[in-house]
Amino acid sequence: MIQLSKIVQEMEIIEGISMYVHRPSSTLVQHFEEAALEDQFTAEEIAELEKDNPVSQGLKNAPEDYLAFPSKYDIHEYRIMENFCNTVANDRVKEALLSSIRGSGAFRRFRNILDQANQTDKWYHFRDRAFYEIAAEWCIEHDILYTDDRPAPKRTKKKLPPQKIFKDWTLNAQKNSDQNFDFLTSLKLKTEDRVDQVVIHIHNEAVEKIDCTTCGNCCKKMKPELEAVDIKNIADFLKISTNQVQQDYLVFNEKEKSHEFNTLPCPFLGTDNFCSIYEARPAACRDFPNTDESGFASRRFMHHDNTLFCPITYYVVERMKEHFQ
Ligand code: SF4
Ligand code: SF4
Repeated sequence: MIQLSKIVQEMEIIEGISMYVHRPSSTLVQHFEEAALEDQFTAEEIAELEKDNPVSQGLKNAPEDYLAFPSKYDIHEYRIMENFCNTVANDRVKEALLSSIRGSGAFRRFRNILDQANQTDKWYHFRDRAFYEIAAEWCIEHDILYTDDRPAPKRTKKKLPPQKIFKDWTLNAQKNSDQNFDFLTSLKLKTEDRVDQVVIHIHNEAVEKIDCTTCGNCCKKMKPELEAVDIKNIADFLKISTNQVQQDYLVFNEKEKSHEFNTLPCPFLGTDNFCSIYEARPAACRDFPNTDESGFASRRFMHHDNTLFCPITYYVVERMKEHFQ
């Protein structure tokens, strides 16, 4: 009997390696394709390696004992992506995802939008379930005995009533401003590791609940500092020179001695709240709101200020208060 999870683990298509079920022993075996070895070995060395390899010999002498794993044509990841898009409740995100999977570069665009819309975990969960289905159907079709050890569906945690934290959150953020600052200050008295352990869970909970594309406040209210490498990345992405980037999109902040975007909202923020240079966005944008970085307690000024316009930060601080007070 073969565990379904083992088949799923091996279903990722890896160039140069083929996976098989060896029927008589019901085991999974892998085989390096000759073409993948050609870069490193001479023809004579490959022949020698194949001679000593039981899988190579088995494939040659008793091919009927070996069943090749589902190929990319059986897995059809594009169809899985399309099915996933149709499960997304937010119509704007759904449309953006559906249009991202058309044409070349689909996987990259799809992953970027998942990332922006905080849908990445949901996608991988959906994809895993689809892989298990394909693996089970494949076993049935080929009379392979298998143990169905797919993980039990995750129980969705009871969601906090939205009114509890999000209702009137901007007003409450103003109202709780002093209290939040005192609370963030008090975290310095706790063990730093303990604070970081707790906050990472709360951060993950927050990004699951909040869709950044319905907000975009950080891109509308803040000007990130850009390092030289950020400017170079944007220039490469836009296929223009770094001078052109500076001329068209940046100003130099004399006080901070750094470059920043020349407009608010950011010149790269689209009307749909998506970042048009997402893959090349500056490090400061990638890291924002920094609630999942270690040393949470040491950034009280920053987190306090961010509670006033970033619902993720506000949520994190409110939940941290529940936990630590
Ligand atoms: S570069 Fe993108 S992520 Fe950064 S502020 Fe502009 S729109 Fe927002
Ligand atoms: S302000 Fe916070 S919640 Fe809003 S888009 Fe930025 S990170 Fe997301």
